[in-house]
Amino acid sequence: MRNIKILKFGGTSMGTNETISECAKIIKNAIKNSKVIVVVSALSGVTNELIALIDLAKNQKSRLIAVRLDKLEKKHKETLNCFAKNPNEAWAQLLPIFNELRQILTGISLVGDISDKTSAAVWSYGERLSSWIMHYALLESNVTNKRISAAKLIQTNSNYLEAEVDFVKTKVNCKRILNPLIKDNQAVVITGFIARDKHKHITTLGRGGSDYTASIIGLSVNANQIEIWTDVDGVMSADPRIVPSARVWSEIDVNVMAEMAYVGAKVLHPKTIAPALQGKIPVYIKNTFNIKSRGTKIVEQDKKGLRGIVVKKNQLLLHLANPVILNQIGSIHEYSHVFAENNISIDVCVTSEISISLSINKKDESEKLYKDLRKLAKLTINDNLAKICIVGNQIGNDVSILARIFNTIKNYKIYLISDGASFNNITLMVDEKNADDILKVLHKELFI
Ligand code: ADP
Ligand code: ASP
Ligand code: MG
Repeated sequence: MRNIKILKFGGTSMGTNETISECAKIIKNAIKNSKVIVVVSALSGVTNELIALIDLAKNQKSRLIAVRLDKLEKKHKETLNCFAKNPNEAWAQLLPIFNELRQILTGISLVGDISDKTSAAVWSYGERLSSWIMHYALLESNVTNKRISAAKLIQTNSNYLEAEVDFVKTKVNCKRILNPLIKDNQAVVITGFIARDKHKHITTLGRGGSDYTASIIGLSVNANQIEIWTDVDGVMSADPRIVPSARVWSEIDVNVMAEMAYVGAKVLHPKTIAPALQGKIPVYIKNTFNIKSRGTKIVEQDKKGLRGIVVKKNQLLLHLANPVILNQIGSIHEYSHVFAENNISIDVCVTSEISISLSINKKDESEKLYKDLRKLAKLTINDNLAKICIVGNQIGNDVSILARIFNTIKNYKIYLISDGASFNNITLMVDEKNADDILKVLHKELFI
């Protein structure tokens, strides 16, 4: 039976010529005993830049766009020149992609307006370009490989910026298009993040979605292993950028990992886990910059205990009070209906006899939402909040953990507490300005 490994390299790994060379070394090592599918993100910072260019185009700043596009082009050209044996021939692959991007941005600048469909098309250019660079970096390392756009493989619905995958169609495409490429090459390089709908329009899987690409493809080709290569030694007890003393876990329970990712730990896109679980494919998180470290293996079952604290900023807490409505059956349904109508997902939710508190992402707030909610109840908005999630295996019913948490942060204001919806997560909402301090003291109390 074929042994297939999926190796995904994030923007952090696609940062500089040196780091791309590291990726190539890791791939070269992996092809010794497996066929390898390489999933790549855009070069570091490029997707953010594309989103910034869209904003400039909406404001019709054509001159600024031209300058910044030149810079982006230069960055890709220089990176490509470092790897391609014949840079001119290689650039012939990338130039049309840049020209297309220029044309789209010019079009947006002319009308000063943009749909989600066109935004997704612009967002996709980072991966369309970086995958060619990886293709040439591997050729330079004598790894036979083909580069293909995931748009030809992954089919989704038309929710352009965060599309839902049609796994049946995707599997058929992979069998027809990807399997022969795997057979004939040591590696296949695939664009992360992007897909297309049934009308062949580009869609994306949501920010950070290249991890998800790795598991979608993994499931579709029955891969034996998925490796997410990034810039940390694995899944840690906190974001090491804020808590440098955070601990690395060699293994983590799949349900705990799902919870951590879902509540906002950036190290893994939350949708990555389900396809891997379905295909019983082991997933590892590994460090491109420290290949000797074992990384973290996501396992089906791990022992009980605390595993991490995740902070998510830019949260709003909406408090709705109405003595008349809430006593009646179906009142929660009425509220959630308003959020659904406004296409906004509710995060944390707690209720009392006459009131309900719900948290949402700040980016989702709108006057229309508030107007609709005010028709049902008195609305109070708490702005500038952060969500602190303490995550672990079966921690929610451990009173001693709750006692330690509240004892440690007793001097901070807490707006909401949620425990019990999952035994793997205790959530608090606090003032955003206190969030990093709370994270640090709690981490010291719970993990050091
Ligand atoms: P990539 O570009 O490789 O996809 P990301 O920036 O998306 O990388 O994710 C890696 C980053 O996730 C790390 O640099 C780290 O700062 C952050 N992170 C947040 N929470 C955690 C955690 N619990 N464990 C490890 N890393 C975390
Ligand atoms: N490049 C995309 C992003 O920045 C996808 C990814 O990196 O996973 O969101
Ligand atoms: Mg990522």
